[in-house]
Amino acid sequence: MTTIDSAKTNRGKIKKLIWLVSGLLAINLIFLFYFLSFTPTETAFSPTPSLPENNNLKVIFLDVGQGDAILIQTEAQQNILIDGGPDSQIIYKLDQYIPLTSRKIDLAVLTHADPDHLNGLIEVLKRYKVKQVMETGLEDNDLGYREWKKLIQEKQIPKILTFAGQIINLNENLKLEVLSPSKELHEKSSNNLTSIVAKLSLNQVTFLLTGDAPKEIEQDLIQRKIDLKSDVLKVGHHGSKTSTTLEFLKAVKPKYAVISVGENNKFGHPSLRVLKNLEKVNAQILRTDQMGDIIFTTDGEKLEWQTTE
Ligand SMILES: [Zn+2]
Repeated sequence: MTTIDSAKTNRGKIKKLIWLVSGLLAINLIFLFYFLSFTPTETAFSPTPSLPENNNLKVIFLDVGQGDAILIQTEAQQNILIDGGPDSQIIYKLDQYIPLTSRKIDLAVLTHADPDHLNGLIEVLKRYKVKQVMETGLEDNDLGYREWKKLIQEKQIPKILTFAGQIINLNENLKLEVLSPSKELHEKSSNNLTSIVAKLSLNQVTFLLTGDAPKEIEQDLIQRKIDLKSDVLKVGHHGSKTSTTLEFLKAVKPKYAVISVGENNKFGHPSLRVLKNLEKVNAQILRTDQMGDIIFTTDGEKLEWQTTE
């Protein structure tokens, strides 16, 4: 009896054990499916591969030929584009820094409506998800500006109308401060005099972005006693002799001077006088026609740069 009873008890124990193991297995499978189904969402939030490690900000002066296009990438995965260069080349350029799976621009800034700044931005509006645009709002009768305006209306993109004194807080310690045009300079149409001039700063590191602003604006900024001191200066108007006076450079004291310019351009940019002025203030000259894209990375203290050519 004892033997049969203990055999029965053992069979019971084995049955219980099988149930327990099956139960645990089922629970495991449920958890496995739960996690698998959530994996794609988590991947979508992973950092953009193009962002440098241990750096909070990337400022890229894109080589778009004769024109301007500056891509700013923040730690919070924001893409800010200031001007788009003269043509659709900007799309090929952006694709190298923004993954195809997240083709979005958080803010597109038009400094002024000249084709070498505007045309590429029109292509960006067509092919990227642009969340917001910023401009002076000064009308221009050219076909390009009318198309820009039409696309913004059609896509219902919110627009910031800007002027000197406005500060856009992009992130903690990262701000874009608009220095020009001042309200008095607002005229009837968009031109170099009303080009947006802005200072981008992350803690101590600063970039002065001047669009095509001429000497008159440089003088106006000095007279308004604006703190112009910057580590990096985007040289005004592609190095044209109509900008970048020695007096202005002495106020900016740039370590680096970026000239966004096309190879063998018909305007003779950059001018010898501007290059000499930059040498006089010991600024290191970096040119897109000779170096390709010029990429700065900074954590707000350390500033590093590299080029693609
Ligand atoms: Zn220009």
